[in-house]
Amino acid sequence: PPVVELRGVGLVYHGPPPVEALRHCDFVVRRGEFVTVTGPSGAGKSTLLNLVGLLDEPTSGAYLLDGIDTSTLGDMDRTALRGRSIGFVFQSFHLLPYRTALENVALALVYQRRKRSERTALARRALERVGLAHRVGALPTTLSGGERQRVAIARALVGNPSLLLCDEPTGNLDSKTASSIIALLEELNAAGLTIVVITHDPSVARRGTRTLVIQDGLADEQEPA
Ligand code: ADP
Ligand code: ADP
Repeated sequence: PPVVELRGVGLVYHGPPPVEALRHCDFVVRRGEFVTVTGPSGAGKSTLLNLVGLLDEPTSGAYLLDGIDTSTLGDMDRTALRGRSIGFVFQSFHLLPYRTALENVALALVYQRRKRSERTALARRALERVGLAHRVGALPTTLSGGERQRVAIARALVGNPSLLLCDEPTGNLDSKTASSIIALLEELNAAGLTIVVITHDPSVARRGTRTLVIQDGLADEQEPA
């Protein structure tokens, strides 16, 4: 099955006044894709992110993640599915300040039934994948913005998620660093990782293999230029 499948998804914030934030969204993200989602402020990007990330539920239509109809899940199963299937990357890095890069990444595995030594080994490998093998012992305050985002990406992928879901991943970075972070995502994608990046930045939206544009709650495939 596709990683993500939206079938006629709508989301209404009940208000008052009610806001129709997403309308009849149909789209699919297949394994190995790198999809960017873009659109102006208020278009519905955060709403879509929360939905795909299992932080919110559609008010109509169906959302299937890894072929699982998420409307059938109770809160605990939904949380478990989120933890196992989705790695989140945010604009702000949300690293624990008094933990090393390695500890920050290894902590993402703390709810898995793995030995501590195994968690550490996996965290080390994840940091290698993002080019930070030489910084595993560093505290976040001693890292640059780009390095911090690399740690956050390592933390998101260490549990081997089906989907890396990124919300404005370059929003706090200068343009050169931003470009290197997108290049890293492209590298990870080339190695098989499925990625969705939500961004209002056109230079980021142009990257990736496919772009979805949201406008007034409607999602449309961008025609290749
Ligand atoms: P974007 O992320 O593209 O800026 P959002 O998904 O945040 O767009 O918002 C889509 C629409 O839904 C906007 O009209 C916004 O004002 C509205 N909205 C967002 N969150 C809420 C909420 N919690 N309650 C009511 N309306 C909301
Ligand atoms: P900003 O940088 O604009 O403050 P973030 O990128 O930090 O926004 O967060 C974007 C959205 O994701 C927000 O709605 C926030 O509540 C949510 N969020 C942030 N961190 C987490 C987290 N660790 N788990 C779940 N949701 C989060």
